[in-house]
Amino acid sequence: MFENLSDRLSGVFDRLTKQGALSEDDVKTALREVRVALLEADVSLPVARDFIKAVQEKATGQAVTKSITPGQQVVKIVHDELKHVLTGDEDPGALKIDNPPAPILMVGLQGGGKTTTTAKIAKRLKEREGKRVLMASLDVNRPAAMEQLQILGTQIGVDTLPIVKGEDPVAIAKRAKTQASLGGYDVYMLDTAGRLSIDEELMAQVEAVRDVANPRETLLVVDGLTGQDAVHTAENFDERIGITGVVLTRMDGDGRGGAALSMRAVTGKPIRFVGLGEKMDALETFEPDRIAGRILG
Ligand code: GDP
Repeated sequence: MFENLSDRLSGVFDRLTKQGALSEDDVKTALREVRVALLEADVSLPVARDFIKAVQEKATGQAVTKSITPGQQVVKIVHDELKHVLTGDEDPGALKIDNPPAPILMVGLQGGGKTTTTAKIAKRLKEREGKRVLMASLDVNRPAAMEQLQILGTQIGVDTLPIVKGEDPVAIAKRAKTQASLGGYDVYMLDTAGRLSIDEELMAQVEAVRDVANPRETLLVVDGLTGQDAVHTAENFDERIGITGVVLTRMDGDGRGGAALSMRAVTGKPIRFVGLGEKMDALETFEPDRIAGRILG
């Protein structure tokens, strides 16, 4: 059974002598436990190492607060640092969609939840911000995916670009732009095709679409349960396409959330939303507190 970090740390500190400040040795002992917790949460080794170093510098020499135990104190320092690394000072849910019509490019591997998330974000923009949104599917190889977006659009009351057979993704992106301008839409969302794995053809296609659309936001949708694979996907897409944020799906599952920290550390790009189920309302703004809690157990 996984013991949570607070319990582990109080165990560690019970064995240590009481002092007025956190000594280097105390902190080192505690951080060994933190490291185990991070690795168990699927944080990658180099990211865990850097993180521990930052916490060590902050914790060593801190006066022990009377009201909380040294264990709780280290947990708090770790928690605050996790939050800091995960979001910095940004507001994850605030998408850059001024200057209508603002293009949002949705990218990711097949099955990660891209189409579902496109519709969830469209619904959110419509309901919370009163935006007029147009969605377009660029997945020309999978007619079912195009139809899926249409069905979701009808369900949430958001327009989709009519499907024209035989058009390539770049032509669809151009048509979406024209339609969005003429139709007075605030935002148009381009749901690009996914593949089971990253390949040159997929990347070249997404790149071509990016170049004609010039998106204000490029959101990568990844399955949060796939851990380190999700981190590699993020690294690849960011290098090649340049993403502005990440949506982690399937966070209703029992993933420990370490991928969130690694992804942020590796790409420097913020996690904007988390998907918490298949329903259209199951999308929340990323809350670093919750993920920090999940990572620490
Ligand atoms: P795409 O191939 O990336 O466009 O993936 P889809 O949007 O078609 O999603 C694949 C499956 O994952 C569908 O059955 C979705 O309902 C499901 N799905 C998407 N997001 C979530 C989520 O946050 N939680 C859960 N449990 N299922 C999700």
